[in-house]
Amino acid sequence: MSTLTLIRNATHWRTGERITLAVEDGVVVPAPARAGAHARVLDARGAVVAPGLVDPHVHLREPGQSAKETIETGTRAAAAGGFTAVACMPNTDPVVDSAAWVEWVKHRATDAAHCEVLPIAAVTLGQGGEKLAALEALARAGAVAFSDDGRPIRSAAMMRRALEYARPTGRPIICHEEDPDLKGDGVMHEGATSTRLGLRGIPGAAESVMCRRDADLAELTGGRVHFAHLSASASFDALRDAKRRGLAVTGETCPHYWTLTDATVGDYDTNAKMNPPLRSEADREACIAAIADGTIDCFATDHAPHTADEKARPFVEAPFGIVGLETALALTLTHLVTPGHLSLARAIELWTDGPRRAFGLPEVTLEPGTQADLLLFDPRAEWVVDPEAFHSMGRNTPFAGWRLEGRVLATMLQGRFTHIADGVRFERAAVVGAAS
Ligand SMILES: [Zn+2]
Ligand SMILES: [Zn+2]
Repeated sequence: MSTLTLIRNATHWRTGERITLAVEDGVVVPAPARAGAHARVLDARGAVVAPGLVDPHVHLREPGQSAKETIETGTRAAAAGGFTAVACMPNTDPVVDSAAWVEWVKHRATDAAHCEVLPIAAVTLGQGGEKLAALEALARAGAVAFSDDGRPIRSAAMMRRALEYARPTGRPIICHEEDPDLKGDGVMHEGATSTRLGLRGIPGAAESVMCRRDADLAELTGGRVHFAHLSASASFDALRDAKRRGLAVTGETCPHYWTLTDATVGDYDTNAKMNPPLRSEADREACIAAIADGTIDCFATDHAPHTADEKARPFVEAPFGIVGLETALALTLTHLVTPGHLSLARAIELWTDGPRRAFGLPEVTLEPGTQADLLLFDPRAEWVVDPEAFHSMGRNTPFAGWRLEGRVLATMLQGRFTHIADGVRFERAAVVGAAS
């Protein structure tokens, strides 16, 4: 017999109504007036229920870099963070630039993943920027988008061709926007802190000039451009302008860009080293403004696990990147919703409908008949970030010790719980009135 799961006393993420959500055989079903002995019941005590979060930008590090993370551990971190789907970047070893490797990622995910894994394939072979990958075949194998993330596409002519070939697939090119010559061997944002520390800087313009170029190429080709991890004030302006021109251009930003600045690098803290780098206070404010006025289409973590040894190297040599899956929702609630920059419903949209729309993925709602991909969270519960408690193999976070609001209580994928927080208990009642 199939098990009926009832989540009672939940607050609907959009309407704010108290609801009972019923799930059977992997789909949301109408809540029965009475449920028999086979029902398992979770009293949500007013916690918010929402569609499962979607992260359009993570690094799961498989194939080839399983000392940093695996599809199993990365998606376990995702489930703990409230995510039911993640799109993973192809800058692995080897690079996911063939249909066979897209199939491999999907196969591995079927065996090991705790959430849906949406492979992103490379734009150019080996992400070398020289030879276009077989985009049509990659799309047919299941790639949801194309990206040379980690590396910008230096040649405008190559980007033009990529957009032309991607266009019939309907899938976007996700652009890691960074002018390689302006970046040079920069390791952090170019500003007062880089001067003080004697480190080479990367100006915000390294990002924004490429955003401007690729918006123009979207216009030229009719292809879809998605800006990854926007960080600089002028880049938010570039996205805003592209939208005003009616171009097929979308963009994401990440929690670290609305919470931190280059001052976080402090005394050469490698957990504040990422690419694009943490920028100035004016950039951080521009980030929040672009989120609040609807310029930003969706949020992403750019979850980039590295080993402790790698991050223990001197600042100049340490790799770029931080983990993000297990702090994303709480950083959104604490630093965007609580201060009043965004409503709770809009914040959730930017982690659900936003990425789904940007990638052309089917909508997930909590309506009866739809797939039961959801999360339950207490928006007011406080907790302190402890990297040692992460499910991710990566401990590289600049948020260790931060007190945050918003705790994920449970995550469900296709009707099965993929994460249940400590202290959350089910009852199995003989007869339960579900109409309360
Ligand atoms: Zn990137
Ligand atoms: Zn990335």
